[in-house]
Amino acid sequence: IRQLSKVYHRGGQRIAVLENLNLTVQPAEFVALMGPSGSGKSTLLNLIAGIDQPTSGTIEVGGVDIATLNERELADWRAANVGFIFQFYNLMPVLTAFENVELPLLLTGLSRRERRAHVEAALEMVKLSDRTDHFPNELSGGQQQRVAIARALVTDPTLIVADEPTGDLDRATGEEVLRLMDELHRDLGKTIVMVTHDPKAAARAGRLIHLEKGELVDDVGNDMPTHA
Ligand code: ATP
Ligand code: MG
Repeated sequence: IRQLSKVYHRGGQRIAVLENLNLTVQPAEFVALMGPSGSGKSTLLNLIAGIDQPTSGTIEVGGVDIATLNERELADWRAANVGFIFQFYNLMPVLTAFENVELPLLLTGLSRRERRAHVEAALEMVKLSDRTDHFPNELSGGQQQRVAIARALVTDPTLIVADEPTGDLDRATGEEVLRLMDELHRDLGKTIVMVTHDPKAAARAGRLIHLEKGELVDDVGNDMPTHA
């Protein structure tokens, strides 16, 4: 990320959220992003994931400057390269766990049989093979978040972004989700950028960055062991 800025315009108001940010994340890095409420963490995540477009600056991911893509190209790039995990899961209530995970694959041109194999593998990865036909309201919060994780990884993206993935879960369930995130990073080599307000969750990442007063600052103390 080079000289990245994002200004929102709303009702004649100009809201400068990010100004000239620079950040380099290595492939297969697991980064936690912390910062006060309203500092622009979700805004930054949405830009990295290609959900929103910057006002200026460059965002280069795997050799592609996504800031130069038009909306159509950005949507295609996103579908092929990014998995997104949200605080409130964002599952479709009228679809089963299987169908929710299958959604991102419907755009890929894979056959029904191929899709089924990918969905089953993703649900197995999050240990929900016995809940494939459940609807979201028939699953616990932690299970819903695991379905969301399966949905994020079913296309085998290189980059996974997570916006407070444990924010709505109790400590033990949150731990389970963090273990899974760590597996995605360690076993599958995914690059992960995770926003969190929880210092314990942040300590699971290999690198901690603070977004404060419009600046990104590495936490140099993060290699110290964190005690309960
Ligand atoms: P939190 O920790 O509470 O989730 P955050 O760091 O994720 O906060 P953002 O959601 O990125 O913060 O919002 C940063 C600022 O940008 C806030 O002041 C917010 O009001 C403003 N903002 C966010 N989205 C928009 C939008 N679509 N239009 C106008 N202003 C916005
Ligand atoms: Mg946010």
